[in-house]
Amino acid sequence: MRTGQTHLFIPGPTNVPETVRQAMNVPMQDMRAPDFGDVTLSLFADLKKVFRTKDATVMMFPGSGTAAWEAAITNTLNPGDRVLMSRHGQFSTLWAEMAERLGLDVQIIDVPWGAGAPVREFERQLAADTNDEIKAVFVTHNETATGVTSDVAGVRRALDENFHDALLFVDGVSSIASIDFRMDDWRVDLAITGSQKGLMMPAGLGILAVSEKAMEMSKTSQMRRAYFEFSDMVNLNSGGYFPYTPPTQLLHGLRKSLDRIEAEGVDNVIARHNRLATGVRRGVEAWGLELVAEHPSFYSDTVSAIRTPENVDAREVIRIAYEDFNTSLGSGLARLTGKVFRIGHIGDLNEGMCLTALSVAEMALVRAGAQIEFGSGVAAAQSWFATENAPRQQLAVAAE
Ligand SMILES: *Cc1c(COP(=O)(O)O)cnc(C)c1O
Repeated sequence: MRTGQTHLFIPGPTNVPETVRQAMNVPMQDMRAPDFGDVTLSLFADLKKVFRTKDATVMMFPGSGTAAWEAAITNTLNPGDRVLMSRHGQFSTLWAEMAERLGLDVQIIDVPWGAGAPVREFERQLAADTNDEIKAVFVTHNETATGVTSDVAGVRRALDENFHDALLFVDGVSSIASIDFRMDDWRVDLAITGSQKGLMMPAGLGILAVSEKAMEMSKTSQMRRAYFEFSDMVNLNSGGYFPYTPPTQLLHGLRKSLDRIEAEGVDNVIARHNRLATGVRRGVEAWGLELVAEHPSFYSDTVSAIRTPENVDAREVIRIAYEDFNTSLGSGLARLTGKVFRIGHIGDLNEGMCLTALSVAEMALVRAGAQIEFGSGVAAAQSWFATENAPRQQLAVAAE
């Protein structure tokens, strides 16, 4: 039997705030009732604030982030279209694989796992594409497998400097509502997220924001789709309804989660993620361990992927943390298996929780054979949290 809480420090699903969990505990509803739209319509308006867009159309598909990837591709492109993307971690790899499976001609740039989307190489390949054969550029904003955040604004500049008309797709599943993301400023055409990361919800909604340009493309796109048809979704969404049964509990939870984000303020949410992530990184540095992210400019504020010392199997660290200390740490994915463990620091999180993650990781590391001084990582993070960068902005949410 386990006593106390099991701590969740994976980068999704993230911790669901108690108020959000309670908000989902409602009786089943008639999703065609005249007042059902009241529940839904406010969500679209408030999601736009999170995506930082005025003009995009927001849609929610029952499904996960992967469903939103597929919806974005199949509604806006044509079979055989060339798309430019980079592989620099497991999520960008899976997205490229999906694009291939769906029949796109994927022009892939492989970069080391630990680097970000290669803006200069994108720029070079866009410049060379004088016949406009590249129809879309895909960017994984935050590569959750490696803890690397990429420069989406830089990719937008690379497109603009070449007067290139390709659509800009951004996977923001582990960045939106936690790392600075600007749909309109960066003129993103398809922004993708899911409910179970920055939005602090269970999995179950694949959420998309679609630019006017991409909406226009969807009218002539010839890729096959049925369930994910934008026009079916948009027609019914205009009244707050869905073309099929929506997960109504999740919609109520999302209402509460968006209320919390609004109360804290999107800018403050982003600043908090940066403050907490910095504390975790201070801890990792004090242990003398390395992040997978190759350079500070890539550091992710939602997840840290940490390399274990040579002789220490990261799977053991994760197992010990879970079995002995009731704590879930993220695993090393694909080629990082056994070499890396991850601390997810995304969503409903505070200083004390980050210190727990560091403290348990220290115990698990030592038991797995690492030479680490107890308290070293915790102390480094404490110093950051308590003296160098103490929180100022938590009153609004605490008062809720
Ligand atoms: C979690 C994640 C996904 C996949 O989302 P699912 O909801 O599991 O389908 C895609 N991309 C990134 C960057 C992610 O972090």
